[in-house]
Amino acid sequence: MKKAYGIVIGLLFILYLGGIAPAAEEIADSHFHNANYAMQGVPLKEIIDTYMGEKIARSVVFPLPLQQKWDRFEHYAGDKMDPNYYMGPKAGMYYYSAIDALTAADYLKLFSADRARLDPMIVGFNPMDQYGVTHIKRMLLLYPGVFAGIGEFSVHKELVGDKIDDDLTRTNLGPGEKLPPDSTDSTRNTLYNPSLKTILDFAAEAGLVVCLHSDVYPAKVSYDGTSVTLSPEAPYTAGMKHLCGGSPKATVYWAHTGLGRFVKPAADHLKVVSEVLDACPNWYTDLSWDLVQSYIAFPKPGMPTLDDWAGFVKKYQDRILWGSDNVIYTRNKMDDKGTVTLGKPMLVKDYLVVRETLNPLWEKVGPEVMRKVRYANHVRLFDVARTSVRAWEAAHAKDNVWDLSAQ
Ligand SMILES: [Zn+2]
Repeated sequence: MKKAYGIVIGLLFILYLGGIAPAAEEIADSHFHNANYAMQGVPLKEIIDTYMGEKIARSVVFPLPLQQKWDRFEHYAGDKMDPNYYMGPKAGMYYYSAIDALTAADYLKLFSADRARLDPMIVGFNPMDQYGVTHIKRMLLLYPGVFAGIGEFSVHKELVGDKIDDDLTRTNLGPGEKLPPDSTDSTRNTLYNPSLKTILDFAAEAGLVVCLHSDVYPAKVSYDGTSVTLSPEAPYTAGMKHLCGGSPKATVYWAHTGLGRFVKPAADHLKVVSEVLDACPNWYTDLSWDLVQSYIAFPKPGMPTLDDWAGFVKKYQDRILWGSDNVIYTRNKMDDKGTVTLGKPMLVKDYLVVRETLNPLWEKVGPEVMRKVRYANHVRLFDVARTSVRAWEAAHAKDNVWDLSAQ
């Protein structure tokens, strides 16, 4: 009797490991941050059980790579709260490599059915550093079986580019060497840095999917977001083409079609994005971030209309992904009276509500295109990536992590 009881328990345990969870809705989140700018986040198991549940079938997990420095000499917010967002404090930010180890360690604790729902990405490298690629290799070798991609990392991003504690592009130019075409005297990041080509070429070799954030046009924004200069008339199209042309085999998805809080869609936005997609056959783009999604669903005068977006999405239906761009841990806030509300794990309803922002678009493009954008394209890209990256890891299992090439 005791033995039969043991067998039943054993069978139940095997079923549990094998994943008998009810099938989740066919939605894949291709843009999700499991930690914020202060490395505050939520364990992956909780993200699956509490947040994704039966509503989100698959999700990438990429923390923010940049740690906001807390400089006590700045007396940010009158010393009443710690800064956990990039806008507000004057202090710089730096790449926090250990965040990838946190994600990997967490992922390795999951049962296989849970692992199958997540696509972890490596983020803790400086894309402007020729050594950036060695961090990516080390992570694959140290944590085989975990990662499917790299990013979201940023090249051009309002304010963030200025706040990274890094050299200005012009600092180390040799005599007679000119600034890259997308750089100014005060920029640190450029699409023309050879380090980026090395990273993308390696991503192609290993099969890693790349999520790249690079604003579609220049935006100069002060540390607290009060002053803004925008240059929609001079998009970074040439730089994007240079990047994909140099590494044509890399599978890259361009976050938010290059839009953001300040970088709003110009009238010719979809023309610019189409030009990049047409020149870069291995490039995709994602419709993520509730703020950007509202430009699509409820455009202001002078922006592309919902019909324009529907036409664009239909045309590129196999090359567009959907994402929430949720950051799982909320910001510390202080109101006018100085009352502080500390950040915390976001509410499940706030996590899920982003699924609805693009409903007007889905109505226009129909269920088949919606399914591709919200689910099938992600599954196709990331399933291929998983297989390729596992093969690269197996082939390189004996590589010495203490002696890797950055070429
Ligand atoms: Zn993001």
